[in-house]
Amino acid sequence: MDVTPAGGAVPLPAPKLGTLSRLAPEPMKVVLNWGRRYSLWVFNFGLACCAIEFIAASMARHDFIRLGVIPFAPGPRQADLMIVSGTVTDKMAPAVKRLYEQMPEPKYVISFGACSNCGGPYWDSYSVTKGVDQIIPVDVYVPGCPPRPEALLQGILKLQEKIARENLGERYGTTAPASVSQLTSPLVTPPPGGDDR
Ligand code: SF4
Repeated sequence: MDVTPAGGAVPLPAPKLGTLSRLAPEPMKVVLNWGRRYSLWVFNFGLACCAIEFIAASMARHDFIRLGVIPFAPGPRQADLMIVSGTVTDKMAPAVKRLYEQMPEPKYVISFGACSNCGGPYWDSYSVTKGVDQIIPVDVYVPGCPPRPEALLQGILKLQEKIARENLGERYGTTAPASVSQLTSPLVTPPPGGDDR
């Protein structure tokens, strides 16, 4: 990347470390990733029995706060991590997607349990979504029906390993910045004929 000096138009070549650049530390990336991985405000999207195991993981016996997971974000707009625990139905899926979209970047998702991974015991039900990853991106899948709290702790550690290796430039670099019209558009399209509530 070229560097342009203040007030000048002549770009300067970026400093190079030659073949050692592969091994060079990236202090800012390390510090930012370190901060993200150990301050995960969590938003629990509990939908069925797996949510009880999530609650157990947050209590004193398993105590996921010691891993840097902070319960509980007041809402999706304050959350870094959404944990979907339970059966996602087609009727609930739009709400899951909507609240995920309200979370600020960078944001992460753990799918906790067989139901949110793939539909679980209800995979052939007419009303069950066959995995929450059909509507939002998932970073870590935790298997089980229900998974034990220790499995959630393992999933959190896997997510933290992923965040530690993360390059946000690669993750978001191809996304064009939002336009003014996108940022100021209404969040909800008004129903035709107005609100009949
Ligand atoms: S995976 Fe099993 S325990 Fe979890 S919500 Fe589905 S049926 Fe309940």
